[in-house]
Amino acid sequence: MDINEGVRNTIRSLPPRIHLCYQPRSQTDIQRGQVVGALSSLKRFGQGPSWSPVVTVSRSASFKNALVQDYHITSHTMSVDVCIVGAGLSGAVIANRYANETNKKVLVLDSRDHIGGNCYDYVNKYGVRMNKYGAHLFHTKRRDVWDFISQFGTWEPWEHRTLAKVYTADGPKHVPIPICIPTVQQLYDPDVKTEQDMLEFFKNETKDINFTKPYKNSEESTLARFGRRIYESFFRDYTIKQWDKSPERLDASVLERIPLRLNYDDRYFTDEIQMLPSSGYTSIFEDLLDHSHIQVLLGVDYLKHKECFKNIQTTIFTGPIDGYFADYNYKKLEYRSLNFKEENVELERDDDYVLPASVVNEPSMKVKYTRTVEYKHFLQQKAYTSTLVREYSSSEGDPYYPVPNDENRGTYKAFQELAETETARERRRVCFLGRLANYKYMNMDQAIGNALDHWEDWKRDWLQVCDSPVPQTVLHRPQQHHNGFTQNHIDDVREVGKVA
Ligand code: UDP
Repeated sequence: MDINEGVRNTIRSLPPRIHLCYQPRSQTDIQRGQVVGALSSLKRFGQGPSWSPVVTVSRSASFKNALVQDYHITSHTMSVDVCIVGAGLSGAVIANRYANETNKKVLVLDSRDHIGGNCYDYVNKYGVRMNKYGAHLFHTKRRDVWDFISQFGTWEPWEHRTLAKVYTADGPKHVPIPICIPTVQQLYDPDVKTEQDMLEFFKNETKDINFTKPYKNSEESTLARFGRRIYESFFRDYTIKQWDKSPERLDASVLERIPLRLNYDDRYFTDEIQMLPSSGYTSIFEDLLDHSHIQVLLGVDYLKHKECFKNIQTTIFTGPIDGYFADYNYKKLEYRSLNFKEENVELERDDDYVLPASVVNEPSMKVKYTRTVEYKHFLQQKAYTSTLVREYSSSEGDPYYPVPNDENRGTYKAFQELAETETARERRRVCFLGRLANYKYMNMDQAIGNALDHWEDWKRDWLQVCDSPVPQTVLHRPQQHHNGFTQNHIDDVREVGKVA
Protein backbone atom coordinates (compact mmCIF):
# COMPACT_ATOMS: atom_id res chain seq x y z
CA MET A 1 0.00 0.00 0.00
CA ASP A 2 1.19 3.51 -0.80
CA ILE A 3 2.36 5.14 2.42
CA ASN A 4 0.26 8.25 1.94
CA GLU A 5 -2.77 6.06 1.43
CA GLY A 6 -1.85 4.22 4.62
CA VAL A 7 -1.67 7.53 6.48
CA ARG A 8 -5.04 8.63 5.16
CA ASN A 9 -6.70 5.34 6.07
CA THR A 10 -5.29 5.50 9.52
CA ILE A 11 -6.39 9.08 10.01
CA ARG A 12 -9.89 8.20 8.91
CA SER A 13 -10.05 5.38 11.41
CA LEU A 14 -9.09 7.53 14.37
CA PRO A 15 -11.56 9.45 16.50
CA PRO A 16 -10.83 13.20 16.39
CA ARG A 17 -9.62 14.40 19.70
CA ILE A 18 -6.37 16.10 18.99
CA HIS A 19 -5.76 16.54 15.33
CA LEU A 20 -2.18 16.06 14.64
CA CYS A 21 -0.43 14.28 11.89
CA TYR A 22 2.22 14.55 9.23
CA GLN A 23 1.80 14.09 5.58
CA PRO A 24 5.10 13.45 3.83
CA ARG A 25 5.58 15.80 0.91
CA SER A 26 6.79 13.01 -1.30
CA GLN A 27 7.82 9.43 -1.25
CA THR A 28 11.37 10.65 -1.92
CA ASP A 29 11.38 12.53 1.35
CA ILE A 30 10.76 9.31 3.11
CA GLN A 31 13.18 7.34 1.00
CA ARG A 32 15.88 9.88 1.71
CA GLY A 33 15.54 8.73 5.27
CA GLN A 34 15.30 12.32 6.49
CA VAL A 35 12.54 11.34 8.82
CA VAL A 36 13.51 7.90 9.89
CA GLY A 37 11.60 8.21 13.14
CA ALA A 38 8.37 9.19 11.48
CA LEU A 39 8.84 6.56 8.85
CA SER A 40 9.14 3.79 11.37
CA SER A 41 5.78 4.85 12.73
CA LEU A 42 4.20 5.38 9.36
CA LYS A 43 5.21 1.93 8.21
CA ARG A 44 3.24 0.49 11.01
CA PHE A 45 0.07 2.23 9.90
CA GLY A 46 -0.70 -0.79 7.79
CA GLN A 47 -0.68 -2.89 10.93
CA GLY A 48 -3.46 -1.06 12.70
CA PRO A 49 -4.54 2.34 13.85
CA SER A 50 -2.79 2.40 17.20
CA TRP A 51 0.40 4.03 15.92
CA SER A 52 0.96 7.69 16.10
CA PRO A 53 3.34 9.14 13.52
CA VAL A 54 4.62 11.50 16.14
CA VAL A 55 8.35 11.25 16.65
CA THR A 56 9.72 10.88 20.11
CA VAL A 57 13.16 12.14 20.95
CA SER A 58 15.34 9.23 21.71
CA ARG A 59 19.01 9.23 22.55
CA SER A 60 19.60 5.85 20.96
CA ALA A 61 17.98 6.79 17.67
CA SER A 62 19.90 9.20 15.53
CA PHE A 63 18.36 12.39 16.78
CA LYS A 64 18.77 14.30 13.57
CA ASN A 65 17.05 11.57 11.60
CA ALA A 66 14.14 11.68 13.96
CA LEU A 67 13.34 15.28 13.17
CA VAL A 68 10.06 15.81 11.42
CA GLN A 69 11.05 18.43 8.93
CA ASP A 70 9.11 17.87 5.77
CA TYR A 71 5.76 17.08 7.18
CA HIS A 72 2.56 19.04 7.27
CA ILE A 73 -0.03 18.86 9.94
CA THR A 74 -3.22 17.27 8.77
CA SER A 75 -5.16 15.35 11.37
CA HIS A 76 -4.54 12.59 13.80
CA THR A 77 -5.34 11.60 17.33
CA MET A 78 -3.13 11.06 20.30
CA SER A 79 -3.40 11.63 23.99
CA VAL A 80 -1.20 14.24 25.59
CA ASP A 81 -1.50 15.91 29.00
CA VAL A 82 0.80 18.86 28.56
CA CYS A 83 1.55 20.80 25.42
CA ILE A 84 4.72 22.87 25.59
CA VAL A 85 5.14 25.40 22.85
CA GLY A 86 8.81 26.05 22.17
CA ALA A 87 11.78 23.65 22.42
CA GLY A 88 14.15 26.33 23.75
CA LEU A 89 15.51 26.50 27.29
CA SER A 90 12.25 27.24 29.09
CA GLY A 91 10.31 24.64 27.11
CA ALA A 92 12.92 21.90 27.37
CA VAL A 93 13.50 22.40 31.11
CA ILE A 94 9.81 22.36 31.95
CA ALA A 95 9.21 19.34 29.66
CA ASN A 96 11.98 17.51 31.43
CA ARG A 97 10.49 18.23 34.84
CA TYR A 98 7.01 17.15 33.82
CA ALA A 99 8.24 13.91 32.31
CA ASN A 100 10.51 13.05 35.21
CA GLU A 101 8.35 14.07 38.10
CA THR A 102 4.87 13.11 36.93
CA ASN A 103 3.32 10.41 34.82
CA LYS A 104 2.11 12.98 32.32
CA LYS A 105 2.57 12.73 28.55
CA VAL A 106 4.31 15.81 27.24
CA LEU A 107 4.22 17.15 23.72
CA VAL A 108 6.83 19.76 22.81
CA LEU A 109 6.23 21.78 19.64
CA ASP A 110 8.53 24.13 17.85
CA SER A 111 8.03 26.00 14.62
CA ARG A 112 11.71 25.66 13.81
CA ASP A 113 13.14 22.42 12.44
CA HIS A 114 15.42 21.87 15.41
CA ILE A 115 15.35 21.80 19.18
CA GLY A 116 17.35 24.17 21.40
CA GLY A 117 15.76 27.51 20.52
CA ASN A 118 18.41 30.18 20.14
CA CYS A 119 20.98 27.97 21.89
CA TYR A 120 20.99 25.57 18.93
CA ASP A 121 24.48 24.74 17.68
CA TYR A 122 26.05 22.48 15.09
CA VAL A 123 29.46 21.62 13.70
CA ASN A 124 30.13 23.28 10.33
CA LYS A 125 31.93 21.76 7.36
CA TYR A 126 35.27 22.96 8.68
CA GLY A 127 34.76 21.10 11.95
CA VAL A 128 33.98 24.16 14.07
CA ARG A 129 31.02 24.20 16.43
CA MET A 130 28.85 27.21 15.67
CA ASN A 131 25.83 28.73 17.40
CA LYS A 132 23.23 29.38 14.73
CA TYR A 133 21.77 32.33 16.63
CA GLY A 134 24.80 34.03 18.15
CA ALA A 135 27.33 33.06 20.81
CA HIS A 136 25.91 31.59 24.02
CA LEU A 137 28.04 31.64 27.14
CA PHE A 138 26.66 29.91 30.18
CA HIS A 139 27.37 31.53 33.52
CA THR A 140 25.49 31.56 36.78
CA LYS A 141 25.57 32.36 40.45
CA ARG A 142 22.66 30.03 41.10
CA ARG A 143 23.91 26.73 42.44
CA ASP A 144 20.50 25.07 41.97
CA VAL A 145 20.49 26.04 38.28
CA TRP A 146 23.95 24.60 37.79
CA ASP A 147 23.13 21.44 39.77
CA PHE A 148 20.17 20.93 37.47
CA ILE A 149 21.64 21.71 34.06
CA SER A 150 24.98 20.00 34.70
CA GLN A 151 23.15 16.66 34.86
CA PHE A 152 22.73 16.89 31.10
CA GLY A 153 25.62 16.41 28.70
CA THR A 154 29.14 17.25 29.76
CA TRP A 155 30.49 20.73 30.48
CA GLU A 156 33.89 22.34 30.58
CA PRO A 157 35.00 25.50 32.35
CA TRP A 158 35.26 28.46 30.00
CA GLU A 159 35.90 32.02 31.09
CA HIS A 160 34.67 34.31 28.37
CA ARG A 161 36.61 37.43 27.40
CA THR A 162 35.51 40.09 24.94
CA LEU A 163 37.58 42.85 23.35
CA ALA A 164 36.16 46.10 22.02
CA LYS A 165 37.65 47.65 18.90
CA VAL A 166 38.07 51.33 19.74
CA TYR A 167 39.34 53.89 17.25
CA THR A 168 42.02 56.25 18.64
CA ALA A 169 44.27 58.90 17.11
CA ASP A 170 46.88 56.10 16.75
CA GLY A 171 44.45 53.80 14.94
CA PRO A 172 42.14 51.02 16.18
CA LYS A 173 42.93 49.28 19.46
CA HIS A 174 41.47 46.08 20.88
CA VAL A 175 40.84 46.67 24.56
CA PRO A 176 39.02 44.67 27.26
CA ILE A 177 35.34 45.26 27.89
CA PRO A 178 33.93 45.47 30.63
CA ILE A 179 36.08 48.48 31.42
CA CYS A 180 38.81 47.47 33.88
CA ILE A 181 42.33 48.67 34.75
CA PRO A 182 43.89 47.33 31.49
CA THR A 183 41.25 49.20 29.43
CA VAL A 184 41.99 52.50 31.15
CA GLN A 185 45.76 51.94 30.90
CA GLN A 186 45.65 51.16 27.17
CA LEU A 187 43.37 54.05 26.21
CA TYR A 188 43.65 56.84 28.74
CA ASP A 189 46.25 56.64 31.47
CA PRO A 190 49.05 54.04 31.82
CA ASP A 191 49.63 55.15 35.41
CA VAL A 192 46.27 53.87 36.65
CA LYS A 193 47.33 50.75 38.55
CA THR A 194 45.21 50.31 41.65
CA GLU A 195 41.59 50.38 42.71
CA GLN A 196 42.26 53.77 44.30
CA ASP A 197 43.68 55.07 41.00
CA MET A 198 40.54 53.82 39.23
CA LEU A 199 38.27 55.58 41.76
CA GLU A 200 40.14 58.80 41.20
CA PHE A 201 40.13 58.38 37.42
CA PHE A 202 36.35 57.88 37.34
CA LYS A 203 35.73 60.66 39.84
CA ASN A 204 37.40 62.94 37.37
CA GLU A 205 35.63 61.42 34.34
CA THR A 206 32.19 61.93 35.94
CA LYS A 207 32.78 65.28 37.63
CA ASP A 208 30.38 67.13 35.32
CA ILE A 209 27.66 64.47 35.44
CA ASN A 210 24.87 65.21 37.86
CA PHE A 211 22.55 62.25 37.50
CA THR A 212 21.71 60.42 40.69
CA LYS A 213 20.13 57.07 41.46
CA PRO A 214 17.61 55.77 40.61
CA TYR A 215 18.66 56.42 37.02
CA LYS A 216 15.81 56.94 34.62
CA ASN A 217 17.44 55.32 31.61
CA SER A 218 20.62 53.73 30.22
CA GLU A 219 22.13 57.07 29.20
CA GLU A 220 21.91 58.47 32.74
CA SER A 221 23.27 55.33 34.38
CA THR A 222 26.16 54.97 31.93
CA LEU A 223 27.17 58.64 32.04
CA ALA A 224 27.03 58.56 35.85
CA ARG A 225 29.21 55.45 36.05
CA PHE A 226 31.75 56.11 33.28
CA GLY A 227 31.58 59.75 32.20
CA ARG A 228 30.99 61.12 28.71
CA ARG A 229 34.27 60.05 27.06
CA ILE A 230 33.82 56.33 27.75
CA TYR A 231 30.06 56.51 27.22
CA GLU A 232 30.61 57.80 23.69
CA SER A 233 33.50 55.48 22.81
CA PHE A 234 32.04 52.22 24.13
CA PHE A 235 28.31 52.44 24.70
CA ARG A 236 26.31 55.11 22.89
CA ASP A 237 26.81 54.01 19.29
CA TYR A 238 26.92 50.28 20.00
CA THR A 239 23.56 50.66 21.71
CA ILE A 240 22.09 52.68 18.86
CA LYS A 241 23.20 49.97 16.43
CA GLN A 242 21.88 47.18 18.65
CA TRP A 243 18.55 48.66 19.70
CA ASP A 244 17.93 51.29 17.03
CA LYS A 245 17.38 53.82 19.78
CA SER A 246 19.48 56.03 21.97
CA PRO A 247 20.33 54.69 25.46
CA GLU A 248 18.07 57.48 26.74
CA ARG A 249 15.11 55.45 25.48
CA LEU A 250 16.12 52.20 27.19
CA ASP A 251 15.78 51.12 30.81
CA ALA A 252 18.91 51.67 32.91
CA SER A 253 19.07 47.87 33.33
CA VAL A 254 20.12 47.34 29.68
CA LEU A 255 23.50 49.04 29.99
CA GLU A 256 23.86 48.08 33.63
CA ARG A 257 24.44 44.56 32.32
CA ILE A 258 27.97 45.80 31.64
CA PRO A 259 29.78 46.45 34.93
CA LEU A 260 32.67 48.77 35.77
CA ARG A 261 35.62 46.84 37.24
CA LEU A 262 38.07 48.63 39.47
CA ASN A 263 40.58 45.77 39.17
CA TYR A 264 42.44 43.79 36.49
CA ASP A 265 39.65 41.27 35.92
CA ASP A 266 38.98 41.37 32.17
CA ARG A 267 36.48 38.48 32.06
CA TYR A 268 33.07 39.29 30.60
CA PHE A 269 31.34 37.64 33.60
CA THR A 270 32.47 37.18 37.18
CA ASP A 271 30.03 34.43 38.17
CA GLU A 272 31.74 31.56 39.93
CA ILE A 273 30.23 29.08 37.49
CA GLN A 274 31.16 29.67 33.85
CA MET A 275 30.91 26.68 31.54
CA LEU A 276 30.44 25.54 27.95
CA PRO A 277 28.95 22.19 26.96
CA SER A 278 31.78 20.00 25.59
CA SER A 279 29.59 18.52 22.87
CA GLY A 280 27.48 21.58 22.27
CA TYR A 281 24.17 22.94 23.51
CA THR A 282 22.09 20.83 21.15
CA SER A 283 23.24 17.69 22.92
CA ILE A 284 22.15 19.20 26.24
CA PHE A 285 18.66 19.64 24.77
CA GLU A 286 18.69 16.10 23.41
CA ASP A 287 19.38 14.89 26.94
CA LEU A 288 16.75 17.19 28.49
CA LEU A 289 14.11 15.88 26.08
CA ASP A 290 15.20 12.26 26.07
CA HIS A 291 12.31 10.68 27.91
CA SER A 292 9.75 8.15 26.85
CA HIS A 293 6.97 10.51 27.91
CA ILE A 294 8.23 13.41 25.83
CA GLN A 295 7.37 13.75 22.18
CA VAL A 296 8.81 16.53 20.08
CA LEU A 297 7.22 17.92 16.96
CA LEU A 298 9.35 20.22 14.88
CA GLY A 299 8.34 22.52 12.07
CA VAL A 300 4.90 22.98 13.62
CA ASP A 301 3.62 26.50 14.19
CA TYR A 302 1.38 26.19 17.23
CA LEU A 303 -0.32 29.50 16.58
CA LYS A 304 -1.42 28.38 13.12
CA HIS A 305 -2.84 25.14 14.48
CA LYS A 306 -3.98 26.21 17.94
CA GLU A 307 -7.37 24.54 17.47
CA CYS A 308 -5.69 21.17 17.09
CA PHE A 309 -4.32 21.33 20.61
CA LYS A 310 -7.20 22.88 22.48
CA ASN A 311 -8.17 19.65 24.24
CA ILE A 312 -4.85 19.28 25.99
CA GLN A 313 -5.42 20.10 29.65
CA THR A 314 -2.28 22.19 30.11
CA THR A 315 -0.46 24.41 27.64
CA ILE A 316 2.80 26.13 28.44
CA PHE A 317 3.53 28.77 25.87
CA THR A 318 7.10 30.03 25.59
CA GLY A 319 6.78 32.05 22.37
CA PRO A 320 6.15 35.79 22.02
CA ILE A 321 3.13 36.75 24.10
CA ASP A 322 1.82 39.25 21.55
CA GLY A 323 1.85 36.49 18.92
CA TYR A 324 -0.33 34.34 21.16
CA PHE A 325 -2.87 37.14 21.60
CA ALA A 326 -2.59 38.47 18.05
CA ASP A 327 -6.38 38.26 17.58
CA TYR A 328 -6.85 41.07 20.08
CA ASN A 329 -5.17 43.55 17.73
CA TYR A 330 -3.34 45.23 20.59
CA LYS A 331 -0.28 47.31 19.90
CA LYS A 332 2.69 45.14 18.89
CA LEU A 333 5.56 44.58 21.27
CA GLU A 334 8.99 45.58 20.01
CA TYR A 335 11.72 42.97 19.57
CA ARG A 336 15.21 43.07 18.15
CA SER A 337 16.41 40.35 15.89
CA LEU A 338 19.85 39.52 14.54
CA ASN A 339 21.16 38.82 11.07
CA PHE A 340 24.40 36.94 10.69
CA LYS A 341 27.00 37.25 7.96
CA GLU A 342 29.70 34.62 7.73
CA GLU A 343 33.23 34.90 6.42
CA ASN A 344 35.54 31.89 6.11
CA VAL A 345 39.24 32.51 6.48
CA GLU A 346 41.88 29.91 5.72
CA LEU A 347 44.65 29.51 8.28
CA GLU A 348 48.18 28.19 8.06
CA ARG A 349 47.92 26.21 11.26
CA ASP A 350 44.90 24.59 12.84
CA ASP A 351 45.54 26.43 16.11
CA ASP A 352 45.73 29.88 14.48
CA TYR A 353 43.02 32.49 14.93
CA VAL A 354 41.95 35.52 12.92
CA LEU A 355 40.74 37.66 15.81
CA PRO A 356 42.47 38.37 19.12
CA ALA A 357 39.38 37.13 21.06
CA SER A 358 36.30 34.96 20.53
CA VAL A 359 34.13 38.08 20.48
CA VAL A 360 35.18 41.49 19.22
CA ASN A 361 32.66 44.26 19.90
CA GLU A 362 32.37 47.14 17.46
CA PRO A 363 31.26 50.17 19.45
CA SER A 364 31.82 52.64 16.61
CA MET A 365 29.60 53.73 13.74
CA LYS A 366 32.42 52.95 11.27
CA VAL A 367 30.83 49.53 10.74
CA LYS A 368 27.17 48.56 10.87
CA TYR A 369 27.60 45.29 12.73
CA THR A 370 27.78 45.18 16.52
CA ARG A 371 30.25 42.35 17.00
CA THR A 372 32.21 39.58 15.31
CA VAL A 373 32.37 36.10 16.77
CA GLU A 374 35.17 33.70 15.92
CA TYR A 375 33.67 30.44 17.15
CA LYS A 376 36.90 28.48 16.84
CA HIS A 377 38.11 30.19 20.02
CA PHE A 378 35.45 28.56 22.17
CA LEU A 379 37.03 25.53 23.88
CA GLN A 380 40.05 26.12 21.60
CA GLN A 381 38.81 24.14 18.62
CA LYS A 382 41.30 23.11 15.96
CA ALA A 383 40.54 23.82 12.28
CA TYR A 384 42.35 25.11 9.19
CA THR A 385 39.41 27.35 8.28
CA SER A 386 37.95 29.79 10.73
CA THR A 387 34.40 31.05 10.32
CA LEU A 388 33.82 34.60 11.50
CA VAL A 389 30.24 35.66 12.09
CA ARG A 390 29.25 39.34 12.10
CA GLU A 391 26.06 40.27 13.92
CA TYR A 392 23.73 42.89 12.49
CA SER A 393 20.81 43.92 14.63
CA SER A 394 17.44 44.25 12.95
CA SER A 395 13.78 44.90 13.71
CA GLU A 396 12.79 42.16 11.21
CA GLY A 397 13.12 38.43 11.75
CA ASP A 398 12.78 36.02 14.66
CA PRO A 399 12.40 37.87 17.96
CA TYR A 400 15.59 37.60 20.03
CA TYR A 401 15.55 40.48 22.46
CA PRO A 402 12.60 42.15 24.15
CA VAL A 403 13.24 45.91 24.23
CA PRO A 404 13.10 47.04 27.86
CA ASN A 405 11.57 50.50 28.21
CA ASP A 406 8.45 52.19 29.61
CA GLU A 407 6.56 52.11 26.35
CA ASN A 408 6.96 48.37 25.82
CA ARG A 409 6.32 47.69 29.49
CA GLY A 410 2.96 49.45 29.12
CA THR A 411 2.11 47.38 26.04
CA TYR A 412 3.25 44.19 27.75
CA LYS A 413 1.03 44.94 30.76
CA ALA A 414 -2.05 44.68 28.59
CA PHE A 415 -0.89 41.27 27.33
CA GLN A 416 0.00 40.20 30.85
CA GLU A 417 -3.58 40.90 31.94
CA LEU A 418 -4.84 38.71 29.10
CA ALA A 419 -2.35 36.01 30.10
CA GLU A 420 -3.55 36.04 33.69
CA THR A 421 -7.11 35.29 32.67
CA GLU A 422 -6.39 32.93 29.79
CA THR A 423 -6.78 29.82 31.95
CA ALA A 424 -10.29 30.92 32.95
CA ARG A 425 -11.17 31.87 29.38
CA GLU A 426 -9.92 28.61 27.91
CA ARG A 427 -11.16 26.47 30.82
CA ARG A 428 -7.86 24.65 30.83
CA ARG A 429 -4.53 25.65 32.20
CA VAL A 430 -2.53 27.98 29.98
CA CYS A 431 0.63 29.57 31.22
CA PHE A 432 3.33 31.76 29.76
CA LEU A 433 6.96 31.04 30.47
CA GLY A 434 10.34 32.41 29.44
CA ARG A 435 12.01 35.37 27.82
CA LEU A 436 9.53 35.95 24.98
CA ALA A 437 6.35 35.01 26.83
CA ASN A 438 7.27 37.20 29.81
CA TYR A 439 8.92 39.85 27.67
CA LYS A 440 12.07 39.84 29.82
CA TYR A 441 15.72 40.19 28.82
CA MET A 442 17.01 37.00 30.47
CA ASN A 443 20.33 35.22 30.39
CA MET A 444 20.40 31.46 29.93
CA ASP A 445 20.68 30.73 33.63
CA GLN A 446 17.77 33.05 34.34
CA ALA A 447 15.63 31.21 31.80
CA ILE A 448 16.52 27.86 33.37
CA GLY A 449 16.02 29.24 36.89
CA ASN A 450 12.70 30.75 35.93
CA ALA A 451 11.48 27.43 34.51
CA LEU A 452 12.64 25.55 37.62
CA ASP A 453 10.97 28.10 39.90
CA HIS A 454 7.80 27.87 37.86
CA TRP A 455 7.91 24.10 38.18
CA GLU A 456 8.33 24.22 41.97
CA ASP A 457 5.49 26.74 42.32
CA TRP A 458 3.22 24.71 40.14
CA LYS A 459 4.00 21.48 41.94
CA ARG A 460 3.06 23.17 45.18
CA ASP A 461 -0.07 24.96 44.01
CA TRP A 462 -1.50 22.64 41.47
CA LEU A 463 -0.06 19.16 41.29
CA GLN A 464 -0.70 18.48 44.94
CA VAL A 465 -4.35 19.25 44.40
CA CYS A 466 -4.87 17.44 41.09
CA ASP A 467 -2.38 14.72 40.90
CA SER A 468 0.41 13.46 43.05
CA PRO A 469 3.82 13.27 41.39
CA VAL A 470 5.04 9.79 40.60
CA PRO A 471 8.45 8.93 42.05
CA GLN A 472 11.14 9.16 39.41
CA THR A 473 12.23 5.53 39.61
CA VAL A 474 8.85 4.32 38.38
CA LEU A 475 9.30 6.18 35.12
CA HIS A 476 12.87 5.20 34.40
CA ARG A 477 12.47 1.79 32.82
CA PRO A 478 15.49 0.13 31.24
CA GLN A 479 15.72 0.87 27.53
CA GLN A 480 16.58 -1.62 24.79
CA HIS A 481 17.56 -0.82 21.27
CA HIS A 482 15.00 -1.77 18.67
CA ASN A 483 14.79 -0.58 15.09
CA GLY A 484 16.56 2.66 15.83
CA PHE A 485 14.25 3.48 18.72
CA THR A 486 14.39 2.33 22.26
CA GLN A 487 11.94 -0.44 23.02
CA ASN A 488 10.67 1.81 25.72
CA HIS A 489 9.97 4.48 23.15
CA ILE A 490 8.01 2.18 20.89
CA ASP A 491 5.81 0.99 23.73
CA ASP A 492 5.16 4.56 24.63
CA VAL A 493 4.29 5.67 21.15
CA ARG A 494 1.80 2.85 21.02
CA GLU A 495 0.40 3.96 24.31
CA VAL A 496 0.33 7.64 23.38
CA GLY A 497 -1.15 6.98 19.98
CA LYS A 498 -3.74 4.60 21.39
CA VAL A 499 -7.30 5.07 20.25
CA ALA A 500 -9.17 6.46 23.20
N1 UDP B 1 26.85 47.34 25.15
C1 UDP B 1 27.54 48.39 24.60
N2 UDP B 1 28.83 48.20 24.23
C2 UDP B 1 29.45 47.00 24.35
C3 UDP B 1 28.74 45.93 24.90
C4 UDP B 1 27.44 46.13 25.28
O1 UDP B 1 27.00 49.49 24.46
O2 UDP B 1 30.64 46.88 23.98
C5 UDP B 1 25.44 47.57 25.57
C6 UDP B 1 24.46 47.30 24.41
O3 UDP B 1 23.37 48.18 24.55
C7 UDP B 1 24.04 45.88 24.69
C8 UDP B 1 23.97 45.87 26.21
O4 UDP B 1 25.09 46.68 26.61
O5 UDP B 1 22.81 45.58 24.10
C9 UDP B 1 24.10 44.52 26.83
O6 UDP B 1 25.28 43.89 26.39
P1 UDP B 1 25.44 42.31 26.37
O7 UDP B 1 26.81 41.99 25.91
O8 UDP B 1 25.00 41.77 27.67
O9 UDP B 1 24.39 41.94 25.22
P2 UDP B 1 23.90 40.52 24.70
O10 UDP B 1 25.07 39.58 24.83
O11 UDP B 1 22.72 40.14 25.52
O12 UDP B 1 23.56 40.79 23.26
